[in-house]
Amino acid sequence: MEYRKLGRSGLMVSSLSYGSWITLDSQSATTQKLCMHSAYDAGVNFFDNAEAYSNGESEVVMGQILKEANWSRDSFIVSSKVFWGGDKPTQKGLSRKHLVDACHAALKRLQLDYIDMFFCHRPDAQTPVEETVRTMNDLIQQGKILYWGTSEWPADLITQAHAAARENRLIGPTMEQPQYNMLNREKVEKEYLRLFRDFGMGTTVWSPLASGILTGKYMNGIPEGSRFSKPGLEWLKEIYLANDSESLNKRLKKLHTLSADLGMTLPQLGISWCLKNKNVSSVILGASRLEQLTETLKADTLSVKLTSEVMNAIDQILENVPSPERVF
Ligand code: NDP
Repeated sequence: MEYRKLGRSGLMVSSLSYGSWITLDSQSATTQKLCMHSAYDAGVNFFDNAEAYSNGESEVVMGQILKEANWSRDSFIVSSKVFWGGDKPTQKGLSRKHLVDACHAALKRLQLDYIDMFFCHRPDAQTPVEETVRTMNDLIQQGKILYWGTSEWPADLITQAHAAARENRLIGPTMEQPQYNMLNREKVEKEYLRLFRDFGMGTTVWSPLASGILTGKYMNGIPEGSRFSKPGLEWLKEIYLANDSESLNKRLKKLHTLSADLGMTLPQLGISWCLKNKNVSSVILGASRLEQLTETLKADTLSVKLTSEVMNAIDQILENVPSPERVF
């Protein structure tokens, strides 16, 4: 497993990590345990979570698995994210109150003494950015979190957070968690470039397979048991499948041929492609079955096959590809 520095920080994070967003809703805790052990055995050291995932249950399950695994606490990294903690006004957003409450609640659910990476899951227009920066700084000083970051914030707001940190001698955000895959490249490849240059921010990128679209599984309809067949996820299906599917499918077929020529599968190509971007610190894998994770974990060694010629060929295939509307 390759390890990369989380931006300019000293933290070494595995280039492939494991997340438990929808995963937990579509698999049992037993599968989750198998996946986490398999990931850890393969060298994965970062496990991603959030207060919003299965309304906190995802952190409860992950915490129990970590406890039973009894891995040395200094050998793995755990994240949580704060923003959607409940319906009441004080249970959401990035106010000092919710940040502190959410941190305490996540620590309890995860059964940990500290959280390695604590993300602001979305920007909060109601809270002054300085309030958020100051509170994150306090949580770091109290030893409850080690690094704080943002997820899907606009570059301008992240720049403001750094300015507030500098002005007040506080610790600014170390990392951002954006979506990054062959269909969603703009933020990471354009908008955030100045953040990497000016602040040395790291990234832990999500949905590397565009919720499964880049596996090619939706080319002939929606397979039973797949993410887009799940009740409650109709909204997600609508976003992703609102695309010009004919144009997308043509490109997926070409990508499939290319991946076969390289001796890898389409999911492995999608993950390997994300790994080629050096501004990506870690690619967070999602899996509803262990076999899927076993397959995508191999991208760590396969990504060398994506030479600059192959990357150019992929760019040509993807030229003007219809992008799913950004709603997250
Ligand atoms: P992906 O886009 O990679 O989608 C994963 C899904 O793709 C799987 O659940 C499975 O779906 C399918 N899949 C994966 N591997 C294979 C394979 N080898 N063959 C066939 N199908 C496969 O990632 P996620 O959307 O799950 O995101 C990963 C993680 O990123 C999350 O768990 C979470 O930790 C984080 N995240 C963060 C967000 C944020 O706002 N910060 C937002 C979203 C995610 P199926 O059920 O169809 O089998």
